[in-house]
Amino acid sequence: MKIYNSYTDRLEEFKSIHPNKVGMYICGPTVYNYIHIGNARPVVFFDTVRRYFESKKYQVIFASNFTDVDDKIIQKSIEENISELEVSSYYINAFLSDVKSLNCKTDYIKPKVTKYMNYIINYIQDLIDKGYAYQANGDVYFRVTKIEDYGALSNRLIDDLISGSRVEVNNLKENPLDFTLWKQTFEGINFDSQFSKGRPGWHTECVAMIDDIFGEQIDIHGGGTDLKFPHHENEIAQAKAIHNHRVAKYWMHNGRLSFKDIKMSKSLGNVIFVKDVSEKLALRYFLLSTHYRAPLNYSDDSFAMYVTEWLKLENTLKTAFFKLDINNKLIEETEITAEDVNETITNFNSSMDNDFNTANAITALQSLLRLANVSIRKQDDFSTLNQVYKGLIYMTEILGLKVELNPISNENRQIYLDWQKARKNKEFSEADKLRKVLTDRGVI
Ligand SMILES: [Zn+2]
Repeated sequence: MKIYNSYTDRLEEFKSIHPNKVGMYICGPTVYNYIHIGNARPVVFFDTVRRYFESKKYQVIFASNFTDVDDKIIQKSIEENISELEVSSYYINAFLSDVKSLNCKTDYIKPKVTKYMNYIINYIQDLIDKGYAYQANGDVYFRVTKIEDYGALSNRLIDDLISGSRVEVNNLKENPLDFTLWKQTFEGINFDSQFSKGRPGWHTECVAMIDDIFGEQIDIHGGGTDLKFPHHENEIAQAKAIHNHRVAKYWMHNGRLSFKDIKMSKSLGNVIFVKDVSEKLALRYFLLSTHYRAPLNYSDDSFAMYVTEWLKLENTLKTAFFKLDINNKLIEETEITAEDVNETITNFNSSMDNDFNTANAITALQSLLRLANVSIRKQDDFSTLNQVYKGLIYMTEILGLKVELNPISNENRQIYLDWQKARKNKEFSEADKLRKVLTDRGVI
């Protein structure tokens, strides 16, 4: 299995730090608004990564934070005349309900900055004690020049960064590149510390929480490509200072989503909120339709295509299930022997093994759907239909494209069989009556 490591800029063989275990951390949202479909891209993608590891019997320890201390949250609380805590808890719930509607697993570790304040303060103190950070007028800054290969993730040279950095008004810093670990503030929510009354910097929050949750280097750290610099670079600098490692063995970054070729962002106001999309799983399908590292462009037409694809998938899987179920022919533990079915599964797996190429995995899924439609039309080949069905369940479970399948009740099965019999015997009025019962009950 290969992963493109953004840290080394290479496709690398994945080897977990501990056998059969994967530790993953994904930068989570700042909770001051609903999430838009661009925000949903990493959430859906890394949920799919988790699902694939789990299908390979890895135990995945998955964490993603809520940034619940931030200027934008303070701003919102002033605008709406409610507390910051009310703002953040409202949008945490909204986030969870949105991602659930996209069929993302929500049983993961969700650290909140407000609950981690002591740990974060101790982490900053540790950086000061080791000589990597300094206090200046109530603020604490990280001494970037102490990290020899600072810029390694985003391929920036420290000298270029210094010469390219804007002349800062802040003359408390030893060097304009030094970033804030703690900021003294009198406005909005603030916390007591030995440095001052203030708030931590965003870059130190994630790395401190990772440190507490995992206690060591993790396998995968993920997030949007926009976070490479400065956020992830600064996480790495702090972990190098304290532990001499780069936070994660593999760094993964997803490309951005644009809307009619312009970046979708709340500040530009060109957003589509997840909550406003009616076909949620079609959105998931669309988000996975392009390789995660490539940029993805949203347009009404491209999305409409995946609404159609989703409906086709749903219809085929439901029909296959119904045909097996109504005839009492569903075998849960069927062995896949048909060559063409096996081939689609092999293609699916090798696409996922190749840096989670969901675009190619979806091509394999669509080939299997074509086989399913052929198999559904065949009269009594339940063996192949079972194999196709099993393959579809396997693929849709990993991609998180969950189709609701409701087993038929014994009573409805009997009515269905009676209907078929009446049709065969040309008892048309009886057949029509039974058919109506089945359609009224939503069986057919
Ligand atoms: Zn982060």
